[in-house]
Amino acid sequence: MRKTSQRDTLETVAYETAAPHVARITLNRPDKRNAQNTQLLYELNDAFDRACADDEVKVIILGAAGPHFSSGHDLAEDDRVGNMRQWQTVGTWCGFGCAGAEAQMAREKELYIGLSERWRNIPKPTIAAVQGVCIAGGLLLCWPCDLIIAADNAEFSDPTARMGLAGVEYMAHAWELGPRKAKEFLFTSGWIDAHEAWRLGMVNKVVPRDGLADATRAMASNIALKPSFALKLAKEAVNAAQDAGGRVNGMNTAFALHQLCHSHNQQRFGSLIDPSFSFAGAKR
Ligand code: ZN
Repeated sequence: MRKTSQRDTLETVAYETAAPHVARITLNRPDKRNAQNTQLLYELNDAFDRACADDEVKVIILGAAGPHFSSGHDLAEDDRVGNMRQWQTVGTWCGFGCAGAEAQMAREKELYIGLSERWRNIPKPTIAAVQGVCIAGGLLLCWPCDLIIAADNAEFSDPTARMGLAGVEYMAHAWELGPRKAKEFLFTSGWIDAHEAWRLGMVNKVVPRDGLADATRAMASNIALKPSFALKLAKEAVNAAQDAGGRVNGMNTAFALHQLCHSHNQQRFGSLIDPSFSFAGAKR
């Protein structure tokens, strides 16, 4: 992975050693249900870079502080495109300063599909520990991880159809849920609880909420006993099998359709999402 700028202090994520050879990164905006603003996404990327660059780290855990894993993109963030300029990007795209749809597409190409794809290809095993709600953009953080351990209160949703969008930017639904369940998930904007997610193969294990951290650490420590190179190549082999099935092309097409939805909403309503959307219609 190409290294990006390293900040000495991370404000929106925490970084610690959870066990020998195991790093734990924690989303740390619990008062905002770990909503993802620009700062959090770049600091999360910095934390992943730090874990990758440290040869002592063999396994990376991604967890979240507070009752919920993540409520998704921080839609309340002011000047989302302008905020990009404060950060050194990973160079996924260009055009942040441009007018029209170009700037929005640049932002989403870099922050959403760009970073998530980058994290998916980290050459070390990653494990997401998910509790509470994980909504839309929250999926962009747990799905790129190799394994997901869910607390028994975890619930997953992608309500973007209600926003007038064809799914979130990192459109891994068909690979995570299978095509039929993926369509139901998208069409209904409904919820999948931890047990159903396990049955569908989207999560590896469901554990009691108060045992989530310990269960995740135990899994990480088990994995950390194996040689790093074997782990790296085992990950690469499975990812290659998935990609040979057309994952990358499918997701790039979905990303383009997502941008078409934003442009349609902008032309029709003057906003990136359908203004009839309200969180009031969601269960949580
Ligand atoms: Zn978008």
